[in-house]
Amino acid sequence: MKQTLLSLSNLTKQFDGKKVLDSLDLEIFDGEFITLLGPSGCGKTTLLRMMAGFEHPDEGSITLGGQDLTHTPPEHRPLNTVFQNYALFPHMSVFDNVAYGLKMEKRPKEEIQQRVEEALAMVQLEDFARRKPHQLSGGQQQRVAIARAVVKRPKMLLLDEPLSALDFKLRRTMQVELKRLQRELGITFVFVTHDQEEALSMSDRVVVLKGGHIQQLGTPREVYERPANLFTARFVGETNFFPGRVDAANGDDTITVDVFGLKRTFRKPDFPVKEGQGLHVLLRPEDIRVLAPEDEDGVAGKIVERNYKGSTLDSVIHLEDGTEVLASEFFDEDDPTFDYRLGEPVKVSWVDGWEWLLPTEPEALPEEEGTDA
Ligand code: ATP
Repeated sequence: MKQTLLSLSNLTKQFDGKKVLDSLDLEIFDGEFITLLGPSGCGKTTLLRMMAGFEHPDEGSITLGGQDLTHTPPEHRPLNTVFQNYALFPHMSVFDNVAYGLKMEKRPKEEIQQRVEEALAMVQLEDFARRKPHQLSGGQQQRVAIARAVVKRPKMLLLDEPLSALDFKLRRTMQVELKRLQRELGITFVFVTHDQEEALSMSDRVVVLKGGHIQQLGTPREVYERPANLFTARFVGETNFFPGRVDAANGDDTITVDVFGLKRTFRKPDFPVKEGQGLHVLLRPEDIRVLAPEDEDGVAGKIVERNYKGSTLDSVIHLEDGTEVLASEFFDEDDPTFDYRLGEPVKVSWVDGWEWLLPTEPEALPEEEGTDA
């Protein structure tokens, strides 16, 4: 049974008359790794700073374990923040940086020694305790910042794009390390990023934000495979949007949809549909199959780009009506279409059942107008 640790209710914040957060509700579970994901300016940092206490909501409340924290100053909240720029004290050793918070709390010397050693071991920096920050790599400095945050044993760790200053390889390594650390410590992590791959690979749940509203809240798999709307579908991963038209609503919980002249049977979506209505058929590049031009199935097009990526072969195909299709197929040397070159005609199809349907204009389709087919 999941227990709520932090509860955000009806949070609203304006800056210069512009709503940055708009009546936002969110429950964060004890021990989870939850990520706030969204484009620049969507309100991620503002939301995190509100949890930390550096920012105050105009309306709404924040409670932790049932206790109202809305107006509690940051230093009295049982949580800690790791910022993008590590903000280490440059003149202090790694040990003293990590020990700083405990010294401020006037903890006994032996306890400080033991807890700092433990925290440094956790981030695998035991051998670097006497170094100064400038003698460390970017990744090591970030690990010091994390050790400094966890040494105080917060209930919750807030991380604001903590990996964005690192190069690609180090970033990947740190993602794995952070995830391991979170599992070992059992601390709730709230992580901010605009990198969707990072969000999907690290989180138990992802909050997709735009314009101060939650667009979707779900597991990485839910957000990727069943996006709630076009924004989430576009923002999280690459997607092909094929135009579909409902041909028939069948009696067996399926609908027949016309996609580029092909009649396909799909599971009935959870929004109302009626015959003749347009909808989006969403297909991820890995759902697409490139077939030989003589294949009976599929839509005709030609290859305009091919990239061999080792495990996959990625293609861009232009259909006859100009639609651009992205395909990513696991490399298979026995598949003759893998030898097709640029400009060659092909057919495009997809794996049945892997499509996801969304209404064309959700705003124009309120519940009462649709005929629940
Ligand atoms: P990024 O990924 O670029 O950091 P973000 O999603 O974290 O973006 P926020 O930093 O929360 O976005 O900012 C949301 C909006 O609020 C932006 O338009 C920003 O300019 C504005 N904003 C944030 N802080 C302030 C402030 N102190 N005063 C005025 N406007 C602010």
